[in-house]
Amino acid sequence: MKILVPVKRVVDYNVKVRVKADGTDVDLANVKMAMNPFDEIAMEEAVRLKEAGFASEVIAVSCGVSACQETIRAALAVGADRGILVQTDAELQPLAVAKLLKSLCDKEAPQLVICGKQAIDDDASQTGQILAALMGWAQATFASQVVLADGLATVTREIDGGLETLEIKLPAVVTTDLRLNEPRYASLPNIMKAKKKPLETVTPADLCVDVSPRLTTLQVAEPPKRSAGVMLADVAQLVDKLKNEAKVI
Ligand code: AMP
Repeated sequence: MKILVPVKRVVDYNVKVRVKADGTDVDLANVKMAMNPFDEIAMEEAVRLKEAGFASEVIAVSCGVSACQETIRAALAVGADRGILVQTDAELQPLAVAKLLKSLCDKEAPQLVICGKQAIDDDASQTGQILAALMGWAQATFASQVVLADGLATVTREIDGGLETLEIKLPAVVTTDLRLNEPRYASLPNIMKAKKKPLETVTPADLCVDVSPRLTTLQVAEPPKRSAGVMLADVAQLVDKLKNEAKVI
C-alpha cells in the first residue's frame, strides 16, 4: 500500500518571527525555512511503516512555491520514495491544500495519509480533517501511536486526562502528535541519494483545483511585549503584592 505524507515548508521553529512593517503578513525575507516539525514526525512514521513491511511506497507532497522542492528533498533524504510538488505562488489556505491533496489521493489511491496535526505557521489544524471529509474517509487526529493490521489502523490519541484508542478502517487520514516518534536525521549518503529520487511537479490547474483564498487576513501584529519581572525578598512580600497590587487573592 502507498502512504502519502503532505510536508509543508514553514519558517524554521528556531527563528524569531517578525511582522512586516505594514502589518499585512509575516516577513519571510531572508528567513530560514524548514519542514513543519509535525510533518517530520509524519514522514518518520510512514518510513517506519514501510520498513516494517506495511507500506510499499511513501510519497511526499508539498504545495507552494518552487522552493518547496527543498522540503520534498528533505523528505526523500529520510526515506520517502518519490515526491510531488504542487507548485503555485498563490497564498494557500487549508481548504485549498486539502482540495489539492484530494485530487492527488484520487489519482494515487494511498491507503493512508499521514499529516502533521498542525502547521506551525498558521496553526490552523484543519488540512487533514478537511481532506478526510472531502474523501469520505475515516480520520484519527493527534496520534501518539499507530498500529496497522487487517485493513484497520488502531490509533492512540492523547486527550485530557488520559489516552483514547480508535480503530478506523483504511483508507484513512491520521494526523501526528509530538510524542508519536522521534524523527531520524538524514545521513549524508541519503541526502545525496535523495537528489536522484523522482520529483514530479504539477500545478493546481493540472489538478483542476481553484486555490483562491476564502479568508482575508485583516492584520498581523506582534504579541504585546512582556514587562520585566521583579525579585521579591520573601513570601510575605509576594502575598502582599498579590493582594494589594494584582488583587488576585
Ligand atoms: P494546517 O491545517 O495548516 O495546520 O496543516 C496541517 C497539516 O497539513 C500540516 O502539518 C501538513 O501535513 C499539511 N499541510 C498544510 N499545508 C500544506 C502545504 N502547503 N503543503 C503540504 N502539506 C501541507
